[in-house]
Amino acid sequence: MRFLIFLWCCAVAMFGAEAAKGATALIEFAKIPKNASLSFEGRDIALLRHPAKADTYFALIAIDYRSTARESALHVRYSGGEKKIPLTVTEGNYTQETLSVAQEKVTPSKEQRERTEREYAEAMAIYRTHSPLRLWSRPFLLPMQSPITSPFGTARIYNGTLSGFHGGTDFRAAIGTPVHAANSGKVVLAKDRFYAGGSVVIDHGEGIYTTYYHLSALHVSVGDSVAQGAVIGLSGKSGRVSGPHLHYGVMLQGLSVDPLQFHAQIERLFLSASRN
Ligand SMILES: [Zn+2]
Repeated sequence: MRFLIFLWCCAVAMFGAEAAKGATALIEFAKIPKNASLSFEGRDIALLRHPAKADTYFALIAIDYRSTARESALHVRYSGGEKKIPLTVTEGNYTQETLSVAQEKVTPSKEQRERTEREYAEAMAIYRTHSPLRLWSRPFLLPMQSPITSPFGTARIYNGTLSGFHGGTDFRAAIGTPVHAANSGKVVLAKDRFYAGGSVVIDHGEGIYTTYYHLSALHVSVGDSVAQGAVIGLSGKSGRVSGPHLHYGVMLQGLSVDPLQFHAQIERLFLSASRN
């Protein structure tokens, strides 16, 4: 991992200059000009206050899984100038898997298609909302302690047809296993959906959402504030699944990112603070 010091006005410490498709790049800034604005490939990126270091800011950049590997850059604009921080996007080490599921979940009827389109639009409207208030103050935790049965990013072939990629991390979970909130936040979706089954989505603020799918019971409702670790529901096998498990996802800036890698990036913020 590269560590660079940028010499403009003040020192800017930076790491995370390389990120895979589907990953979250983390860039930390010390004493960045107050009026600075950030963008990455045409998207505005929020400058966020460091959770543990005074006068320090950071940026999280979601890298689109569907993008190609390339040399890119984070643009930093401030009064009197502009800097580009190079960011290399890599392919990542993702694999491919073949799944067999009920045919109706692969080729849904017209009514089912309309339902999934409605549910997709509703979810994307949530994920693209940037709630400015941060609702977390600690690193993210896994929603359960259980073996991972399918990692993020695997290209998926359903009944012989390529159907996108796995947008979350699957945990082995017998039906009825408690599912815990990865961090504190506000419930913005709690309902049954066609593909995701029993679903809970938590808004953590600043464009960060966690998602919990295929639940057999929901213990929260839209509008509820949840504390980190609170039981938000029980795992199940509802929706498009080949067996019971928990699908856990992280949405950042409207994109699915690798949950475990995202957790590790947030943890680095706290670790970097404890080193100083
Ligand atoms: Zn999954």
